[in-house]
Amino acid sequence: MSPRFEGRDTIRKLSGRWATVQVPKCGAVRFRLSRPLPPDFGMGRVTKDAAGRWHVSFAAPQPPIERSATGKAIGLDLGITVSVATSDGVLKSAPQPGAAELKRKLRLERKLARQSKGSNRRARTKLALAKLAARQADRLNDWREKVTTQLVVENDLISIEDLRVKNMMASAKGSIAAPGKNVRAKSGLNREIARQGWSTFSRRLEQKAAAAGVELVRVTARDTSRCCNNCSHTEEGNRKNQAFVCKACGHEDHADVNAAKNILADGLLATGHEATGRGGIVRPFGPVVPSGGPGEASITEAARRAA
Ligand SMILES: [Zn+2]
Repeated sequence: MSPRFEGRDTIRKLSGRWATVQVPKCGAVRFRLSRPLPPDFGMGRVTKDAAGRWHVSFAAPQPPIERSATGKAIGLDLGITVSVATSDGVLKSAPQPGAAELKRKLRLERKLARQSKGSNRRARTKLALAKLAARQADRLNDWREKVTTQLVVENDLISIEDLRVKNMMASAKGSIAAPGKNVRAKSGLNREIARQGWSTFSRRLEQKAAAAGVELVRVTARDTSRCCNNCSHTEEGNRKNQAFVCKACGHEDHADVNAAKNILADGLLATGHEATGRGGIVRPFGPVVPSGGPGEASITEAARRAA
């Protein structure tokens, strides 16, 4: 754990991009401003990440997101590989490493396997791999911050799946019979990465929604991918990989968008904004059980069963 020091009054801006900070036992250290300095901030901390990069950070209150009411509500289906489908029919995918980067990663991994433990060469290869991983983590982080801000700016209500339930279902089923979506998420490790990615995503969404007065609803989202949003007919055969074609009414949609629409319908019903659920049909959901912070509601499976 790195020591904290007083940040205020120890920073001198040199230009728009550079500044110096007085670090105890180091003196004045020049650093690049990766983001504008907030008007008020507290303790500073110097850290070194796995990729060997030094960072200085200052504790500061999160600036609230500026927004005005839009009257819009949205449902989100979080894919197992990092992607978001919205009930508006938009698919947002997290940036993936490029082909050249993947090739370099493979080469470095092979090199690492040949190198003897404890050698300097091996340490250098490890650092190069850590740099690649850090670059991808930065990209994912940027993407997550942008997407969550945009969702909060544009919508008065956001309905998402309760991930605890989603994960439970996914693990119980082994790997869901939807190969197009999670063919690469079959290994436990990948699933774990996706799970962590989504918990960070929903946590940031929750924080931003609460700060901006946006209503966030978590729904248990049962059968979201098998249920037709148009007529509420639920059947495994409705879904074929990425395509949804209802066996009862013929309704066609992208499978994840159909799921996102169901999640929105559940959320609107749960919060009392709509009197009917999926396909305009009244389904008993039971009372909304408030959980967590402001602007959040959740339907529990138990409440649903009791209804
Ligand atoms: Zn249908």
